Amino acid sequence: MRKARVVSLLRFARPCSPLAAARSSGASDLAEGPTIIDSHAHVDSPKFDADRDAVLARARAAGVRRIVNVGTTVKGSESCIRMAAEHDDVYAVVGIHPHEAATVSDADWAAIERLVAAPKVVAVGECGLDRGPWNDAPMDAQERLLRRHVRLHRTTGLPLVIHNRDTFDDLFRILDDETASGGALRGIMHCFSGGPDEARRCLDLGFDISFSGVVTFKNAPELRAAARVVPLDRVHVETDCPYLTPAPHRGQRNEPAHVMHTARRVADEMGVAFDEFENVTESNTIRFFDMPPLDRTTNAPANSETREGPA
Ligand SMILES: [Zn+2]
Ligand SMILES: [Zn+2]
Repeated sequence: MRKARVVSLLRFARPCSPLAAARSSGASDLAEGPTIIDSHAHVDSPKFDADRDAVLARARAAGVRRIVNVGTTVKGSESCIRMAAEHDDVYAVVGIHPHEAATVSDADWAAIERLVAAPKVVAVGECGLDRGPWNDAPMDAQERLLRRHVRLHRTTGLPLVIHNRDTFDDLFRILDDETASGGALRGIMHCFSGGPDEARRCLDLGFDISFSGVVTFKNAPELRAAARVVPLDRVHVETDCPYLTPAPHRGQRNEPAHVMHTARRVADEMGVAFDEFENVTESNTIRFFDMPPLDRTTNAPANSETREGPA
């Protein structure tokens, strides 16, 4: 089974190696090895204020071809849009995190509805539910905010980025209800935290699965079991930086360059060669967020519309 699936995915293979591409383009800051996309990061966080450009440079040198930078507040969403405008390889997601559910105003939501139309916004979120000890927003307020994001997903056609902490029961109840009343959903379960059963339910509901550094933690056997049941064409990897630093960097601030450790661990669990895994997940993430294809010959984002316009 596994072999047949891997062979069928060879159509995603890139035409030339990143090393050859880097050499032919003469670029100096490119990785000479595997490349990957960080499908969920918060490089807009104040924790990167002192060295943001160095963090982005390290990511590029490590082979991170693109970073999906995710808003958690109106202000953060604006920062993500600004960063996406400044950097070819950074994209933006706009939304409001469930931590903010108790204090979101109608004006805040109107701002999100405006921001979602900005260039390089590729999804709505992060939104969802969180029963973590540091979230005191009432669950009914979190549910209302999540359903607002679902409506915005339907009106814009942009996929949902879902955050979930210890709330699979409530999350499935809401997503089942939304599917029954409004039709199929499309999204990604960021920092997926369940086991194989929850993974299958998410996939059935139309959600891809994104693994964070938690998959490298000793105490996460269920999560690694989940990685073994996710189809190769529905998997993504992320840092969720500055949080959830993967082994062997635990205890440090996380950053996009570390996504490679997570990717290697997920590839191992799935029984897929790493070069296969990195090719396929890049294609998955580009397809999922409807990004322009990577330019395989220059290692820069393909953006022919702007390049070929009148001078
Ligand atoms: Zn999250
Ligand atoms: Zn996040």
